[in-house]
Order: sequence, then structure tokens, then C-alpha cells
Amino acid sequence: MASIAAPPEFQHTYARLLPTLATSWKADESSDPRLIISNNPLAEHLGINPAWLTSDEALSLFTGNQAANNPERYALAYAGHQFGSYSPRLGDGRALLVGEFIDPQGQQWDLHLKGSGRTPFARGGDGKATLGPMLREYLMGEAMAALGIPTTRALAVVTTGDLAMRERPLPGAILVRVAASHLRVGTFQYAAALGEIDDLKTLADYAIERHYPELAEDNDRYLKLLNAVIERQASLVAEWMLVGFIHGVMNTDNVTISGETIDYGPCAFMDVVDPQTVFSSIDEGGRYAYGRQPSIAQWNLARFAETLLPLIATDPEDAIAPATEALEEFPNIFSRYWHDGMNQRLGLSTTVDGDDDLANDLIALLQEQRLDLISTMRSLSDHLRGHDIGLGEWTTRWDTRLQLEKASCEELISRLEAANPIYIPRNHLVEEALSSAVAGDLSKFDALLERVTHPYERVDNAEHYAQPGDPGPGYRTYCGT
Ligand code: AMP
Ligand code: MG
Repeated sequence: MASIAAPPEFQHTYARLLPTLATSWKADESSDPRLIISNNPLAEHLGINPAWLTSDEALSLFTGNQAANNPERYALAYAGHQFGSYSPRLGDGRALLVGEFIDPQGQQWDLHLKGSGRTPFARGGDGKATLGPMLREYLMGEAMAALGIPTTRALAVVTTGDLAMRERPLPGAILVRVAASHLRVGTFQYAAALGEIDDLKTLADYAIERHYPELAEDNDRYLKLLNAVIERQASLVAEWMLVGFIHGVMNTDNVTISGETIDYGPCAFMDVVDPQTVFSSIDEGGRYAYGRQPSIAQWNLARFAETLLPLIATDPEDAIAPATEALEEFPNIFSRYWHDGMNQRLGLSTTVDGDDDLANDLIALLQEQRLDLISTMRSLSDHLRGHDIGLGEWTTRWDTRLQLEKASCEELISRLEAANPIYIPRNHLVEEALSSAVAGDLSKFDALLERVTHPYERVDNAEHYAQPGDPGPGYRTYCGT
């Protein structure tokens, strides 16, 4: 077979170092593997020749077939609190780590398959994923990346040629995922529960080496690791809140140590601002509602802190006070990131007293008037062009504040338009694109992907991409397992 360009060279530093956290396993053979979509911009960013993605070699690497260059794959172990209850053994039930590779910038990545067959962690599951949800993860990840929000991304989606039994038989698919790593809070929970302090320490040192290398030589590095993860998660969730993103399944196994968004299941973007918004069909109690995301993140980080106690101090009792102090900072750190983000979106490059109220009052107004978050924020620049944007007295306060910026109107408009996106994956458009894609027509999916990967660039005849639709009352999203 003619090889178009070499695939990345894979390593298994994690599985070598921590064999109790990674089980060697094989992907299922796929009866008729086909490439559905590949991500050329991501491939280029990673130093992978996009043409290689369409090769037979890539297709066999992305499925269980042949895999000549990379016989070793691993299912990763983790535990996790799911909707508040602890499961001691979750792990990659339908996923495998193909390996780690280094991009031309020297950054290390994991390449991972989701939907590659049952593993020892599959419990009752069939090990499969279906096309709709995998394309959904692809689309959402690309939209988030384009909005500048840390996220895992998909390099490709392939169909396997096999069916997966759901409410009805659906085409089986595999998502080829790239992540800064697959270290999760749940990974630490699993390692901590094994009770081998040396392994826990090795895991923490590995995480530090990979994501926080500046801490590697620090004597206080485990407490500082906690602080650093708190910082990144606070920043991440602030970014989510600023664009109205609802993850939907903020279980501790879906919280990364790297600070990337991971595991796009029933996630969705909110239209009308309402803290109680829940889309996921399985989130009956609203535990993961839009407005609860910051406090849930803090709760998840407390579970992370618990795993680190024996590393933070020889007597874990002595670690409780500093760990608690670190966790208690979460709301302040979150609030700082959120307000910084709001200031940017309001065209403010400086901070003065009263800015926090200006931002809070705007959000309260959107909520009260049941306005769409993204299009209303984008319309702020229209106000500077002399249009009435319907926000009444609030705009007068904002005008007064803008005068302190001593910036020209053009400068302010360009700041606003660089900070407020036009296009996000609107729920009704996502549903429409996915149902046609599953029926074999990718044109709507491609068009939507094109818009949401250029979220700030207005194009002609695309107004419907910028507006909330009416997905109907009680719009629900499903995990799609
Ligand atoms: P998720 O909701 O995708 O984050 O998955 C939660 C847990 O369930 C993880 O341990 C997954 O590996 C496992 N899981 C989800 N769907 C399946 C499936 N179809 N087969 C096997 N395991 C699954
Ligand atoms: Mg998960």
C-alpha cells in the first residue's frame, strides 16, 4: 500500500509508567470502515499531512483493522462521581488510547478512539458509538475551539459498517479524538482508591510534567497542582458561561486535569438567558443546569483535592486546611475570569469600580426580558452605530462608562466585534444537520461547521445561522450512548 505520509509516531509513556491505570486491549474489527469526515485544519496544526487522513492506512489505524504500525492500544482506568454518586470503576468502556505523539511545536497529545468496541470497563455497554452523537462531538468541539475555549477535538469520524442497537439500529461510528491528555479527576480518584501512594505520586508527577511543568521541581508541588487545576477549571467554566454553553454531564470523570472541555454528550448552547436551563434528558434534577456549573465545578475540584491530601502532607489531616483554603478561592477566581470576559465583550480594556455591576445588571436584564445571549451581546456594536438595541437605561450607563475608555467609536466597534461571536451551534440547526448527515447528506453539517468555525465573521445570506430557532418547548438532548 502506498503511504501518503507517515502517521505520527506513537509512544505509551502513560501506560509504561502506570500499568495499573491502563489495560492493553484491541479495537473491534470493523466490517466496512469508511471515513465520514476528517479535520484538515487540526491535522495541519498537529503536523499531520491532511492527505494521510484519507489513506487506507489511516482508516485502519482509526478502526480495529490491521493497525500494523501500532499494535498496542490501551483502555484507561478511572472512577468518578456520576450525578453525585461514586462509581469506583468506570474507565474507557468503549474507547482506546492509540498513543501519545509530539507535534512540531513540541506539544504532546493523546490520540484516542471512541466507539471502538467493548473493553474490560464496558460493564453493561455494547462498546459502540453511533454516527449522530460522534458528529455532534466533532461539531461542538470545533465550535468551542473556534471560540478560543480549551477543548479536546476530533481529527476524524469513521463509520464501522456495523450497526449499534439503540431505540432502533443505528450506524456504528468511531470518533478519533485528540486531547492534551485523558487525565481526569476520575483518574486520580481511581488511583487514590487503589491505595498505593507511590502510584498516586507517580500519577501526580506525570500530570505536573505534562500540564504544569513549571511546578516539577517545587517542594510544594501537589498543593500547587491543586491550585493550578482550580485556576484552569475556573477559567474554563467562566468561558462556558460567557457563551451559554451547558456541558450537561459534569461528572468527575468528565473533568480534565489539563483544563480542556471533554466528553461532549448531551451538551448544548443556551439561547434565552436562564440559569435553570437544562437540556439533557438524563439530568432530571437539574444538577448540571447552566447556572449551577460554577458550583458543580467547585464540588468536582473538592473531589480532586481529596485524592491529593496524602501527597500534600505526610499526615493527610494537615493537608485539609491548605486544600480547603485553595478550594474556597474558586468562586473569586471564577468571578475574576467571568468579569474579565464580560469587560472584553463590553469593549472595556480597563477596569474601574462599577464594572462588575454593569456586567451583572446586563445579564439580569437579558434574563428578565428573556433575550437571546449571543445575538444580544453581538448587537452591542449596533448601539454604537446608532441603532436602538432595546436595553433602555442600561445603554446610557454603558455609554458613560465607554467614555472613560478614551477610544474612538471605530476602535470600540472593532473591540466589540472581535469579542462577541455571531455564530454558535444553534440547537435546531444542530439537530437538522445531524439528521441529514445520518441519512447520508452531509451538506447541512458542512455548512453549519463552516459557520461555527468562523464565529466572528459575518457572511451574507446566513442570518438564520445567527438567530435562535424554536426547537420546541422542552427541547431535550440525549447522551447518545
Ligand atoms: P460518558 O457518558 O460517555 O462520559 O461515559 C460514562 C462511562 O460509561 C464511561 O466509563 C464510558 O466508557 C461508559 N460507556 C458509555 N457508553 C458506553 C457503551 N456504549 N459501551 C460501553 N461503555 C460505555
Ligand atoms: Mg465521560
